[in-house]
Amino acid sequence: MKKSHSTVESLNRIRDIILDIPKIMCILALTKGKAMNHSVFSEPQFHNEESAFAFVEALLWPDGPVCPHCGDKEKIGKLNGKTTRIGLYKCYACQKPFTVRIGTLFEDSHIPLRFWLQAIYLMAQSKKGISANQLHRSLGVTLKSAWFLGHRIREAMREGELAPFGGNGGIVESDETFLWNEPGKPIKRGGGGHKHKILSLIDRNSGQVRSAVVENFKVKTIVPILKENIAKEARVMTDEAGQYRGLKDHFEDHGVVNHSVKEYVSFSDPSIHINTVEGFFSIFKRGMKGVYQHCEKQHLHRYLAEFDFRYSKRVAKGIDDSTRAEKILCGVAGKRLTYQTANRKGGERRASQPQRMISKDGRICYF
Ligand SMILES: [Zn+2]
Repeated sequence: MKKSHSTVESLNRIRDIILDIPKIMCILALTKGKAMNHSVFSEPQFHNEESAFAFVEALLWPDGPVCPHCGDKEKIGKLNGKTTRIGLYKCYACQKPFTVRIGTLFEDSHIPLRFWLQAIYLMAQSKKGISANQLHRSLGVTLKSAWFLGHRIREAMREGELAPFGGNGGIVESDETFLWNEPGKPIKRGGGGHKHKILSLIDRNSGQVRSAVVENFKVKTIVPILKENIAKEARVMTDEAGQYRGLKDHFEDHGVVNHSVKEYVSFSDPSIHINTVEGFFSIFKRGMKGVYQHCEKQHLHRYLAEFDFRYSKRVAKGIDDSTRAEKILCGVAGKRLTYQTANRKGGERRASQPQRMISKDGRICYF
């Protein structure tokens, strides 16, 4: 008797679930419809200046406001007067006012913060980049402002000290490519001496890419960079180019594919190839040729930083457009780039900023 009672109960439960199905389907349909009608730019931080400040503050000051002048976190008050600037705080330890823009790439910029956020989002989600002209038209800022906005955002994408690739015996692919002609260099047929030269490394396990503009592809230029950026225990994959001869002395293993005999994946070991880094070059070149079309040598490292950043934080790594944009925002702190520095030839060599493309010890960095 008891058993039959529990059977009835189970049947009732199943019936309830079946009856609920249309309700669940309806909720799903409504949610889907809502998601489809929801534009990312309808978020308040993209069109309301106060919300934009609140959004940036939450990201840069997760534990509350920090005085950029003295570092105090305790004696800080928000100024809320009628004519007070949006996002203004006062530090009562050093008596100085500040906003979240101070000490970041936004400092000294006249462009409202909500436009910065829009530009950052657009750059974060455009796989092949977004031109200054496009930013100028989309945001309604001048072309000069849009060009500079783009370069400042690229600066935020530049990553600092990075751990060597290929730790724990991982595979690192290395390859190089040419892009456009370098102005002032005589054009020689059959060689790339007159072109911009780029070296990229990809850690196949983590999917991260690291690129640099190099002066040439000679052993004395390339090998120190590889040694600095790749762990000794790594397996390094390259093509048959002469600069890679002797890599076995520096790394655990060196796999070579011989492109001259149309070998794109090693005939003997399928893990030996450089197809991943070539895939990255393909995205980079499509962006540079299709979107940017022209770039001077002193800016090339910033474009590389942009493509490296997006590739290393791509959708396949589980990072969506909004998260990528937030990661750019987290990179705005502690970086400054003035118009003069950005625009001046050789500006990246100014001593006041960390600007070398390849540091003395060979580590790749973008300034
Ligand atoms: Zn202070």
